[in-house]
Amino acid sequence: MVLQAMDLLEQQLPVGEEPLVLSGDVVTGLIIVDVVNGFCTVGAGQMAPSEPNEQIAEMVDEVAKLARAFCEKKWPVFAFLDSHHPDIPEHPYPPHCIIGTDEAELVPELKWLEKDPSVTLRRKDCINGFIGCMEKDGSNVFVDWVKNYQIKSVLVVGICTDICVLDFVCSALSARNRGILPPLENVIVYSRGCATYDLPVHVAQASEDLIAHPQDVTHHVGLYIARGRGAKVASEIIFD
Ligand SMILES: [Zn+2]
Repeated sequence: MVLQAMDLLEQQLPVGEEPLVLSGDVVTGLIIVDVVNGFCTVGAGQMAPSEPNEQIAEMVDEVAKLARAFCEKKWPVFAFLDSHHPDIPEHPYPPHCIIGTDEAELVPELKWLEKDPSVTLRRKDCINGFIGCMEKDGSNVFVDWVKNYQIKSVLVVGICTDICVLDFVCSALSARNRGILPPLENVIVYSRGCATYDLPVHVAQASEDLIAHPQDVTHHVGLYIARGRGAKVASEIIFD
């Protein structure tokens, strides 16, 4: 069933992935979305995988490799950490990534980012990281980061492809189009650097409260919508 759906999706909703070559000529920043234990580490919480998950494991590997490459080159990295106050739930999701717990911390493979001078960390308490960067004085930490480093392209990775990654990508594209994110030109999503959670149809059907979220399908749809909004989708990252 899911296999047929994937064949149909790839045919009817093509993502149009292409390899991406990165050179030092264009200032590129890496955006890491929510690669925290609460979404990625097996058994770490209500929103974490309950058993080993190939798509999520591959995403973590790819993100760790990219982060290492960016930091070695001293290229800018911006990492979001989903982090919630225990008294403020985030509908429609169950409690997750409560501040002060391990769920709201980077996965072990990325923990070193906390000490790297190329990295800007941003805790956010909403799905959309762009909104989560707004300060009370009206400034936006992400907009300022792009301006400070004179970033022309952002490469976006993390979890979930169709939720936090997609919302951030759409908002960054809107902000760019409206001229409030100079000098940013390109928003690129790396497909294997992204993952989403899996809630198969047969599991969801067993409960009235659950909405089905088959992983391969929703990951694909997330990439498709990102592309439709104007993002590029990269199939692999090549350093020149
Ligand atoms: Zn959250």
